[in-house]
Amino acid sequence: TSMVKLSAIEKTWADGTRALNSVDLEVPQGQFCVILGPSGAGKSTLLRAVNGLMKPTAGKVQVDGLELTQTSERELRKRVAMIHQHFNLATRASVAANVLSGALPEVSLARALCGWFHPEQREKACHYLERVGLKPEHLHRRAGELSGGQQQRVGIARAFMLDPKVVLADEPVASLDPQISRDILTLLKDAARELNATVICSLHQVDLAREFGDRIVGMRSGEVVFDGAPEEFDDQR
Ligand code: ADP
Ligand code: ADP
Repeated sequence: TSMVKLSAIEKTWADGTRALNSVDLEVPQGQFCVILGPSGAGKSTLLRAVNGLMKPTAGKVQVDGLELTQTSERELRKRVAMIHQHFNLATRASVAANVLSGALPEVSLARALCGWFHPEQREKACHYLERVGLKPEHLHRRAGELSGGQQQRVGIARAFMLDPKVVLADEPVASLDPQISRDILTLLKDAARELNATVICSLHQVDLAREFGDRIVGMRSGEVVFDGAPEEFDDQR
């Protein structure tokens, strides 16, 4: 059974740009699926179809057996988390507040900053911060003061707060150097495996896709041009 299923997805923007052209994709539970392609290929648009941020022009999106058009934002947010290229942290807020905001059913940093959290949620936030290699002394630092790699660790900890079934990572390492990129992808893959979460991760580097993907879906100009095992991926196509 598929955790994520896209059927004949089309997206044409108002200016006529066709970002997705008849995309079919089924991702089984627990898979680390890499979407590989150059800038403009449609990776981000595809990921945003899965979390409901982008409404496709045509086609059907199902997550965990639910059809997206029939699913409330709240229900979806409990199941699908997102990790961003530019981290999308509240840079002036503390690391703790950023991670705790991931436990809220709607994105609300204001509540995370001054709100009451169940001790269980606080414990969980600490667990995930530790899980991604951050130390207790980082908790009260402003998120924006951390290095890029550390900020992405915060982004990952935040993403896991609601025990998502699906984690979407949109070029999570595009602004990090190669060694830190490997550390971050290792961390993400291990955390996802531990929690049996399904990951769809977009990348533009072939070497990282080969190293980390259980599967590679190659995209170009809004179309899937390759779908298979990493060792079958041919760079020259
Ligand atoms: P990638 O993530 O692979 O870089 P994107 O999904 O961001 O690709 O973009 C696919 C295409 O859609 C590009 O041509 C991009 O310029 C275009 N695009 C993305 N978002 C919008 C938007 N909101 N309005 C118009 N065009 C967009
Ligand atoms: P990032 O990689 O940091 O997410 P992007 O360049 O992919 O940044 O896009 C940021 C935002 O701009 C997204 O909401 C995307 O939909 C929108 N966007 C991207 N390309 C276009 C475009 N050609 N026209 C209008 N909006 C766009």
